[in-house]
Amino acid sequence: MDINKIREQFPILNRKIKGKDMIYLDNTATSQTPMPVVDAITDMYTQTKANVHRGVSTISQEATDMQEATRRRVAQWINASSEQEIIFTRGTTEAINLVASSFGNLLENGDEIILTTMEHHANIVPWQLLGQRKRIILRIVPINEVGELNLNAYRSLFNERTKLVAVCHVSNVLGTVNPIKDIIDFAHSNSVPVLVDGAQAIPHIKVDVRDLDADFYAFSAHKMYGPTGIGILYGKKRWLEMMPPYQGGGEMIANVSFDNTTFAELPFKFEAGTPDFVGIAALNKAIDFIEEIGYDNIAAHEHALLTYTTERMLKIPGMKIFGTSENKSAVISFLIGNEHHYDIGMLLDTLGIEVRTGHHCAQPLMRSLGIEGTVRASFAVYNTFEEADKFIAAVERVAAMLK
Ligand code: PLP
Repeated sequence: MDINKIREQFPILNRKIKGKDMIYLDNTATSQTPMPVVDAITDMYTQTKANVHRGVSTISQEATDMQEATRRRVAQWINASSEQEIIFTRGTTEAINLVASSFGNLLENGDEIILTTMEHHANIVPWQLLGQRKRIILRIVPINEVGELNLNAYRSLFNERTKLVAVCHVSNVLGTVNPIKDIIDFAHSNSVPVLVDGAQAIPHIKVDVRDLDADFYAFSAHKMYGPTGIGILYGKKRWLEMMPPYQGGGEMIANVSFDNTTFAELPFKFEAGTPDFVGIAALNKAIDFIEEIGYDNIAAHEHALLTYTTERMLKIPGMKIFGTSENKSAVISFLIGNEHHYDIGMLLDTLGIEVRTGHHCAQPLMRSLGIEGTVRASFAVYNTFEEADKFIAAVERVAAMLK
C-alpha cells in the first residue's frame, strides 16, 4: 500500500492550520474525500443533473441509472439479498430514525428495546422519541472497565417483551469492536431482531449483512470517504415490507387520490422526495476507493498506527486512555491528568493537530465513565507514522505546558 499515492487523492491533506502542516485526526467525525468522489460530484453537476425517476428524457434516465447503479453496488458490497433492501437516507441518524418511527409503529405499549451504554445519541434519542408515542422500556447493557459490553448482562435483559436490540458495531468513543455476530445470534435465539449502527464500522471493517444476519444495518457515506448527506439503511425485506412508510411525498407512492393513496414498492416506499442523487452517484467512487485499497490493508495499517500511538502515549505522565479493548478500531479517547479536554484540544489545534473534544454525542457513556468529555484522535487509511509521531510530540508538549 503506497500511502503517498493515497494521499495524493486528498488535496485537503496539504492544508496548513495556523501556519503548521495540518494533521487530520478527526476521522471518526468525518473522513476526508478523495478526488475521484469530488470529480464525480462535479461531473454530475456539470453533465448529468436531472431529477431521477421522473422523466423520459435522456438526461433524467442517465441520472437515474447512476443513482440505481450505486444502489446495486452497495447491495453487492455489503452482500444484501437484493437492492430493494438498500434505502438511501441522509445519514446513519436518519436511517435509525426511520426504523424507530416505522418499525416503532409495530410495537405495543410495554414493549422493550435493548440498547447499550456506548451508543451514540443517534441510537438513543430516536428510541426515546418513540417512547413519547408509546410506553417503550429501554434496557441498557453496561460495559466493563476496558470498554467492552457485558454480554452476561446483555443476555439477562431478554424477556417476552423484548422486541428489538439496537447496538453499535464499533464505538465512536472507545473504539471497541463489538462481537456483533454473537450479539445477533443470541437475539435471534430469542426471536428478537437487531439493528446495527454501523457508522464506525463501515470505514474499517468488511461488512457482510447476510453473514452477520443483521435485520437492519445503518451507516453514513461521509465517514467512509464519500459525500456528505447520504446514509444507507439496509433492512431485511421481510421487515421493510411489514413497516409503514416513514415520510410521505413524491417518489414513495404508487397512486395518490384524496380518498386513498397507495405506496410504491421497496425501496422507494421509504424514499420520499428528491434524494441527493448527485451524492449517491458519487458514493460509488468512495466504494471504489475502499475496494482498490482493500479492507485487509486498511485494517492492518490503521491497527499499526493505533498500537504505535497508544504505546507511546501511555508513557506520557497523567495519560488516561478510555477504551482499551483487545478488539479495537483506531480511535484514541484520552485525558491528561485533570486537564479539561477543551484546553488540550485548543492547544493541539495551535500545533496543527485536528482532533475532537467533548462528549462525542455519547453523554450516557461519559456519565458511566465519570467524565464530561475526552480528546479523541482517530485515524484513517491516509494517516502516516510521521503524523503519529508529530501528534505524540504535540501531546507531550501540551502535557508539559499544562503542568
Ligand atoms: N452512530 C455512530 C456510532 C456515530 O459515530 C455517528 C457519528 O459520529 C452517528 C451514529 C451519526 O452519524 P451521522 O451524523 O452521519 O448521521
